[in-house]
Amino acid sequence: VDVVDGNFVRTVKNCIFSKSIPTPLKAPLRLVAVSKDVIEGVLDLDLSVTQSDHFLHFASGGKLPPGSVPLAHRYGGHQFGYWAGQLGDGRAHLLGQYTNRKGETWELQLKGSGKTPYSRSGDGRAVLRSSVREFLCSEAMHFLGIPTSRAASLIISEEQVWRDQFYNGSVKKERGAVVLRLAKSWFRIGSLEILTQSEEINLLRKLLNFIIKEHFSFISSDDPDRYLVFFSTVVNKTAELIALWMSVGFAHGVCNTDNFSLLSITIDYGPFGFMESYNPKFIPNTSDDEGRYSIGAQASVGLFNLEKLLQALGPVLTKKQQHQAKMELEAYNIIYQMRVHQLFRAKLGLLGEEDDDAYCIAFLLKMMEETQSDFTMTFRQLSEVSPKQLHNRDFSQMWALADVSSHDLFPKWIHVYQHRLRRQMNDSDLERQQRMKNVNPRYVLRNWMAESAIRKAENNDFSEVELLHRILSFPFVTQETAEEAGYAARPPQWAQELKVSCSS
Ligand code: AMP
Ligand code: MG
Ligand code: MG
Repeated sequence: VDVVDGNFVRTVKNCIFSKSIPTPLKAPLRLVAVSKDVIEGVLDLDLSVTQSDHFLHFASGGKLPPGSVPLAHRYGGHQFGYWAGQLGDGRAHLLGQYTNRKGETWELQLKGSGKTPYSRSGDGRAVLRSSVREFLCSEAMHFLGIPTSRAASLIISEEQVWRDQFYNGSVKKERGAVVLRLAKSWFRIGSLEILTQSEEINLLRKLLNFIIKEHFSFISSDDPDRYLVFFSTVVNKTAELIALWMSVGFAHGVCNTDNFSLLSITIDYGPFGFMESYNPKFIPNTSDDEGRYSIGAQASVGLFNLEKLLQALGPVLTKKQQHQAKMELEAYNIIYQMRVHQLFRAKLGLLGEEDDDAYCIAFLLKMMEETQSDFTMTFRQLSEVSPKQLHNRDFSQMWALADVSSHDLFPKWIHVYQHRLRRQMNDSDLERQQRMKNVNPRYVLRNWMAESAIRKAENNDFSEVELLHRILSFPFVTQETAEEAGYAARPPQWAQELKVSCSS
């Protein structure tokens, strides 16, 4: 794909990548976290190699893999609703593609690896706290079964970078870190938008053909409708992704078009958050004053982003195809609603489909909202409760259910729900519980958990990063160490005061 040379910050034209050499993190380096699942299962390496100096240098930008031509990707994007022009990889370097034993091809990327032509006013670095969050959350999302980029390792240096301290407005030195991350592709809606905005239509076509060939191989290269089929696939998969986010209470935080993957995987973990007490207005990012990216707005923001994708495809679609694409867009809400409905039916252990299921789900969510019940644990405890306990409202060990059951209408809901469950033929309560436990996680990366691990990591104690990483690799399995750490307990008081912003 088209590449231009040079590492100085500038506006770049007529290319998709710029050659850009990582600026190594300065020694002493230290491996803070490593994902065995990625190292062994994706990269076919033995975990022991990550203990070598060699690995430290490769995974922090000091040494390049043989044959690597490191690249920074040129993309643009709509940020908070407005076209922001050229953005690009301002602190990330693509190292190359790796095809593993399973025949899967993965793109390896460093984040925090120094300036590129796209750094604008940034320093090209990432700090420890945001890197810990990205590392933990991308792995956690994978094990929740949600399409996402992966994280292989997190390396920290003593090198200092300056960052805004959003909670008190001051600026402070923090330590720089590099995450080695992987995705099948890092292309995003903004990758196409910039080409259309700059009227580089040949390049747009070239990139589209490349993406289709590499990642949408079911679309034939001589299909005259190939861009339309591509669009409709992205529409479907984006709806599906956002439905999955909603099913675990995940709010991305910065749903700009440059952070929306063309493969519809979750990318760019910044000020994300898992919703605690159920609230559709939950805003994870304190910099998002207007709540543009509140959790409840994500589905409609997804539609906005897909409209921008369609605009970007405008020059390569015929009038008729554009019309058809608009119809596809109109189906987006239906696809999204269907998928959400399906996921929430599964969260309640419902088999098949009945007319009143939507009522049963909405009824529960409304009570959760009014009683501020914990989203994750209400569903989890419903998965663990016996019909008898539910009937008697015996929730002494179940704090989230105790909260929601304080609602006046709770007995009425129980009645509806238990009747619905009793109508399920060939189902036992044991099977219902098992099904529900497999879709309702007991552990998600709550901000306070990440924050607790980060505070320790700032003092060179990486044990909680490791603990969280291990526990979140089995989010559906009750684990003693997690229980001891209070990860399924009512969040501590201080969790409520936590803030997360774009500073990273
Ligand atoms: P984000 O909000 O994380 O999607 O980032 C938006 C844009 O800002 C992307 O082009 C990033 O590469 C760029 N960016 C963010 N932080 C930095 C930084 N410290 N140095 C250079 N570029 C950055
Ligand atoms: Mg981004
Ligand atoms: Mg980011």
